[in-house]
Amino acid sequence: MKTVDIIVPCYNEAEGLQIFIETTNSYIDKISGYSFKYILVDDGSRDGTFKVMKSLAAQYSNVKYISFSRNFGKEAAMYAGLQNSSGDYVIVMDADLQHPPAMIPDMIAGVEEGYDCCAARRTSRKGESKIRSFFSRNFYKFSNKITDVKMPYGAVDFRIMSRQMVDAVLSLCEVQRFSKGIFSWVGFETKWLPYENVERTIGTTKWSFWGLFKYAIDGITAFSVAPLRFISLLGIIISACAFIYAIVVLFQTLIFGISVPGYATTLIITLFLGGIIEFSVGILGEYIGRIYMETKKRPIYLTKETNIKKKDEFSFDDELEE
Ligand code: UDP
Ligand code: MG
Repeated sequence: MKTVDIIVPCYNEAEGLQIFIETTNSYIDKISGYSFKYILVDDGSRDGTFKVMKSLAAQYSNVKYISFSRNFGKEAAMYAGLQNSSGDYVIVMDADLQHPPAMIPDMIAGVEEGYDCCAARRTSRKGESKIRSFFSRNFYKFSNKITDVKMPYGAVDFRIMSRQMVDAVLSLCEVQRFSKGIFSWVGFETKWLPYENVERTIGTTKWSFWGLFKYAIDGITAFSVAPLRFISLLGIIISACAFIYAIVVLFQTLIFGISVPGYATTLIITLFLGGIIEFSVGILGEYIGRIYMETKKRPIYLTKETNIKKKDEFSFDDELEE
């Protein structure tokens, strides 16, 4: 029997977690030949999510949990789940039922066909604000142009991966993780399953507009140095313009003599260059900040409580089960 781990990052999902498990169970119970295990990751929730997790673990023997000491973010929660997984296959999905559990049988069929990964892709964004869709669409277009990793528009963090791919993802040890990019960077063959966007019925989204903006910057800087090249290029272009202008001024002076006016031009050029320099320093700063954070090598998450035994830990319960 093959084993499948379902990793679910949860942040303030107390209201919906029970329904999530019941709904997902109603689909996975029908799949024969596989044994499923949940790894619920409580990302420092403040609303009793952890209590619900514990009661679920008491109710179902295949529910495992990890609770963080504080909120570390969804990326950290997914990483913790992957690190603690042991299944032949690993599924990552959200706790809010926006990732339809009805797709799990098709996903398993996908990896059985020989794919290393089978991932969901949203074909519509109904129920989402127009501004958010607009920025999101353009972010993918822009980032696919300037980075080496290709992320299809609408790709979500709902996927099944083979053990080999999970190990590959875990072998990337960067602290500032951008999973969408990492999944694509490691390669392996992915089958895409389209689905219609599902609106959140319980709880609220944890993403603010500013949060998404920061996420977009993280995505670009994690996989590309194109912005750095852009500022070098900008420097070259401005220098070339300055050189041409210098020749023009030189000839003007030689032919027409020295003319004093030029206050406006001087001011505009100074301000313009000042702006460009600030902008370039800002981009450099983004990268330096990331190098700084990365060199600290801080742990990606800290566990407060878990019912997952370390792989090499032995207990009498294991012996009794066999
Ligand atoms: N999440 C998390 N940590 C966070 C924010 C979100 O673990 O700091 C989880 C959340 O509980 C949910 C998933 O990540 O299971 C997706 O979050 P959300 O539904 O808010 O995002 P959206 O679907 O709007 O992109
Ligand atoms: Mg959601």
